[in-house]
Amino acid sequence: MKRFHIWTIGCQMNKADSEALGAALQRLGYVPAERAEEADIIVLNSCAVRQSAEDKVRNKIANLKALKRRRPEITLALTGCMVNSHEEALRAAFPHVDFFFRPQRFDDLLRRLPSGNDGENGLPVLPKGITAFVPIIHGCNNFCSYCIVPYRRGREKSRPMPEILCEVERLAAAGVREVTFVGQNVDSYGHDLPGKPDLADLLREANRIEGLLRIRFLTSHPKDMSPKLIETIASLDKVCEHISLPAQSGDNEILKAMRRGYTIEQYRDLIARIRAAIPGVALSNDIIVGFPGETREQFNRTYALLEEERFDTVHVAAYSPRPGTIAARKLPDNVPPEEKQSRLERVESLQERISAEKNAAFVGKVVEVLVEGRRSGKWHGRTRTDKPVFFESGGNRLGQLAQIKIERAGAWSLQGVLAADR
Ligand code: SAH
Ligand code: SF4
Repeated sequence: MKRFHIWTIGCQMNKADSEALGAALQRLGYVPAERAEEADIIVLNSCAVRQSAEDKVRNKIANLKALKRRRPEITLALTGCMVNSHEEALRAAFPHVDFFFRPQRFDDLLRRLPSGNDGENGLPVLPKGITAFVPIIHGCNNFCSYCIVPYRRGREKSRPMPEILCEVERLAAAGVREVTFVGQNVDSYGHDLPGKPDLADLLREANRIEGLLRIRFLTSHPKDMSPKLIETIASLDKVCEHISLPAQSGDNEILKAMRRGYTIEQYRDLIARIRAAIPGVALSNDIIVGFPGETREQFNRTYALLEEERFDTVHVAAYSPRPGTIAARKLPDNVPPEEKQSRLERVESLQERISAEKNAAFVGKVVEVLVEGRRSGKWHGRTRTDKPVFFESGGNRLGQLAQIKIERAGAWSLQGVLAADR
């Protein structure tokens, strides 16, 4: 019996790719190994969106050198956004890595591998969780000036709707209760397909699937979010009230230099329309601080946006020039590192306060949680608005919707007790 280990960092697409690769390896008869040391094949799924992510991957690869020396028969493979068309450079940098493959191109890897169970048929693949990521569109056509994703993942390619729905039906039949449709820009889903279905059409069809309780999607692009989509989210019972809508900056000049395709007035208007149409909606945001040329005043506009609009979660990153991108080629990285760090920390502490205040409003209320698992003696799951909830309960409610009375709240999670079953 051969074993595999997949190590993943980065965005939702990487997580989805790793899930798909894991399922394919299991079909070949391989079984998952908790630790790299126990595996016959190790796959590192890398991220190149920031230098810090790339550094983490480089460390990980370096740390596996000793293991590979001890057990040279192990197959070590690298995939994800660090793998580009210049394989020679990667080969020279990491001679102990056996195989490199671009995101999603894991067929090449699978063809090289012997069957995992010595000639028997592949084992049935049991989904391991209550939730699953389902990619609906690959790549990105946007070329935001700072971003390496379109260079590493290529142009947009939507998966046909029947194929996606068939996959969701299979997942639901196997016990998955929540799917998250993922893509770099899910709002542009379908423009390249015959008949041009859109995300709203896909949500409507998926909403009918029996056994499925919840549907999520990410990431949305502010320039592509249509009124039809907002109405659809509001009207479908399984589609959760949670939208990931990165602004990246609160300043129009910076937005223009980022090539984001909207003004901050348009962004704020979009949020107002979403909030009016979808009561209780949770919004999450991504922000880059220290973009080339960002002045204190321009940063303050971002700060004001976050302070006034009060998002539920904010992921903030310090700008990091990525080789080959428009910003790295044309704009000097001229905000000093200490200044970037200080802006980053200001956003983090503001958001910690806002998240804590928003979560505190749940104390004493009952929320609906999809129970996903058990950790350190407590059950856990998330609200429809994607807030993590930990709770005490005698019985096993895995995969069920539970009504939880919230007793305590922090910036990152809610804690409570079971109020009633649905
Ligand atoms: N498709 C999504 C996310 C892409 S990458 C979107 O359009 O927002 C994920 C996040 O990484 C981005 O939202 C951005 O905040 C951050 N990011 C991307 N490139 C970066 C860079 N060069 N430096 C710092 N952060 C970056
Ligand atoms: Fe990158 Fe912009 Fe595409 Fe998001 S929309 S993946 S930030 S280029």
